[in-house]
Amino acid sequence: MSELITEQQALEERYLRQIFIRSQMTEFVKDPFVMSSSDGVYYTDINGKRYLDGIAGIFVASVGHNNRRVIDAIKDQLDKMSFSPVIHGTNALAVQLANLLAEIAPGDLSAVKFCSGGSEANETAFKIARQYHKLNGNPNKYKVISRYQSWHGCTMGSLSASGLTSRRVDSEPLAAGFIHVFPPYCYRCPFDKEYPSCNITCAGLIEDTIIMEDPDTVAAVIVEPIGHTGGLFDPPPEYLPKLREFCDRHNVLLIFDEIITGMGRTGEMFAAETFDVLPDVLCLGKGLSGGYMPLSAVLCRRHIADKFWGDGKINPGLVTGHTYEGNPIACAAGLATIAEIIEKDLCANARKVGSHLREGLEGLRKHGIIGDIRGKGLFFGIEFVRDLVTKEKFSDDIPIATLIGKRALAKGLLTRYDPHWMSLGPPLILTQDQADEMVSILDASITEVLQEINN
Ligand code: PMP
Repeated sequence: MSELITEQQALEERYLRQIFIRSQMTEFVKDPFVMSSSDGVYYTDINGKRYLDGIAGIFVASVGHNNRRVIDAIKDQLDKMSFSPVIHGTNALAVQLANLLAEIAPGDLSAVKFCSGGSEANETAFKIARQYHKLNGNPNKYKVISRYQSWHGCTMGSLSASGLTSRRVDSEPLAAGFIHVFPPYCYRCPFDKEYPSCNITCAGLIEDTIIMEDPDTVAAVIVEPIGHTGGLFDPPPEYLPKLREFCDRHNVLLIFDEIITGMGRTGEMFAAETFDVLPDVLCLGKGLSGGYMPLSAVLCRRHIADKFWGDGKINPGLVTGHTYEGNPIACAAGLATIAEIIEKDLCANARKVGSHLREGLEGLRKHGIIGDIRGKGLFFGIEFVRDLVTKEKFSDDIPIATLIGKRALAKGLLTRYDPHWMSLGPPLILTQDQADEMVSILDASITEVLQEINN
């Protein structure tokens, strides 16, 4: 074995040729972004530059970086056992974490299947839905209805449910049985309607779709309570209750993909609580382990879980599982992260600092290019427009949010940006001063980008 390359060498193209990341590598190597350490709400790259983490890694670092309690829990568990023989059984930490999740989850969401990432969790939710209907005597219920512009993950099933065209086409053809409908995007209603006179057409069409597809063939509807990757869609209050009603009416399972919105992000532990709607299946990932270990979980309601119990000769139990499910180190991280969120009341902090941050973001409307600000808790999307009245977007050669996001990055703030919108989702430990720092970096970035465009 040759000597490992140094941290600084990780910036060199010849070494970066050996790795794929989610970027065009030809572009990436020109100005590689390589992190070295993190603490609290800050990252430091390998050149020593500090960044305020306005996006919690990617909605992951819920309790902040370098959290002592989580690190110690992982270290303690490492000394004890790092892997349990998964085909033979489980381990006490997985059972503890399942019980803790059952205790804090709303309603009777009380049985948990563990996985390692969000894509796996959603994939598992589809399998639970299909097998549940089979066990219930409805073997033809297999279709999954989801939304355009949604993101449920990279694996083939989760990608098939996802509705982001740009991320789908290169992997097509995708799995059969996934049907898409338009999301609740009130700022640019796909049906040219206005809330509330629209009577929530976007929700109503989901019931129409169930009926047109034949309810006897539909297993589940999956939504992110607040959609993110297509542009952050925060539904009107009636939307999710309506979906609940339609799913009940047609014996279709309602799955909430709370990979981002779970674990305090929207100001309650679960967005299901923020919107007061109980799904049948709820998927968690990202912030569940604070980013310290790969961990995700699929929670299902009691009556669904109970269907998987019975005589092994006719009921095989839930037929899916992964090598790393319920990994004891990951579960130790999950247990400590949840304890930290609860004991420090980080949901309350997300509400308090979130509303302060929102006020600051509202102040940025003075630049005349913010069309809409959406979101809840510490989870926001900002949509930029060239014309506030007509909502006309900037032209393709001015990807305004990308320009602002890159400028903010140069000034030491990490955000998530697309050409016309950006999102923010800092660690839930954010203070008001740090929220102000985010706003002032964005303020300066917008000013500079507008000056450049207008010159
Ligand atoms: N669901 C949502 C809402 C997500 O945002 C993501 C990832 N960004 C996923 C699922 C997939 O999770 P993972 O990347 O951990 O597989």
